[in-house]
Amino acid sequence: MNIEKKILQTIKKYKLCNKKEKILVALSGGKDSAVTAYLLKKFGYNLEAIHIDLKIGKYSNDCLKAVKKLCKDLKIKLHVYDIKKEMGSSMCYLRSTIQSKPGRNKLKNCAICGVIKKWILNREARKLNASKIATGHNLDDEAQTFLMNIFKGSPKLSSNIGAITRNISDKKFISRIKPLFYVPENEIRDYAKIHKLPVIYEKCPCALDSYRIQIRKFLEKMPNKTKQNIMKNFDAIYKKIKKVKNSKIKYCEICGEPSRKQICKKCELMKIHK
Ligand code: AMP
Ligand code: ZN
Repeated sequence: MNIEKKILQTIKKYKLCNKKEKILVALSGGKDSAVTAYLLKKFGYNLEAIHIDLKIGKYSNDCLKAVKKLCKDLKIKLHVYDIKKEMGSSMCYLRSTIQSKPGRNKLKNCAICGVIKKWILNREARKLNASKIATGHNLDDEAQTFLMNIFKGSPKLSSNIGAITRNISDKKFISRIKPLFYVPENEIRDYAKIHKLPVIYEKCPCALDSYRIQIRKFLEKMPNKTKQNIMKNFDAIYKKIKKVKNSKIKYCEICGEPSRKQICKKCELMKIHK
């Protein structure tokens, strides 16, 4: 099945979005989110885009340029969130400050960046009246995460996996959708190249999570069918995982964003004391 059919099928099967709502595509500058935007636009969805400029030197400058060109070509309105202006410093600085706190030195770069990006995306999507946030997560990403959770002995963490966020329903929480959930990475790369999308192929210089790299290398050697089979296992057990994690949503005492605890993950990380 080609990539376009696969996405349409995923949208239909999981009721990811409809043509009346506003979807905010989270563009990183990479191929996955660019293909997500390209195809949602092609299918006639109502799109705007957001890019978080993380200010990680030349890498971020190149990403910003690529995203601007893509949005211009596709006629998508782009919102740029400048992390230095909004949060006072670059992602590298924020992250190293967090990692320098006692007990935090083992936190992975990508985990910290991921928490902060999710916080920003939810808040900005709400401000822009979007009802969905679309990201470029693909089959390889999801199979990696699912396997990592199994190998870590934390299968419950997999309740966050899925083509649409499903265990949080709150008016302040904007659902995240992953139209490329069942599309292998190599098909996305080929598609981006064939359509000459302006994208950055290099990885973020801070993505040094050795465990994920190890799992990625292991999965890279596997045929796409195997990755699909891994996610078939996930599909089969996800309802059971969902039940375990269905806790009530509160609002963070510091920032007011939806959270499972009194203080959200982002504010917990950024607290000065502790
Ligand atoms: P990553 O966590 O870097 O693998 O990225 C996963 C998805 O998050 C991407 O496909 C994008 O949709 C989104 N994303 C990552 N980085 C950014 C960014 N700097 N700005 C906006 N969205 C991003
Ligand atoms: Zn908070």
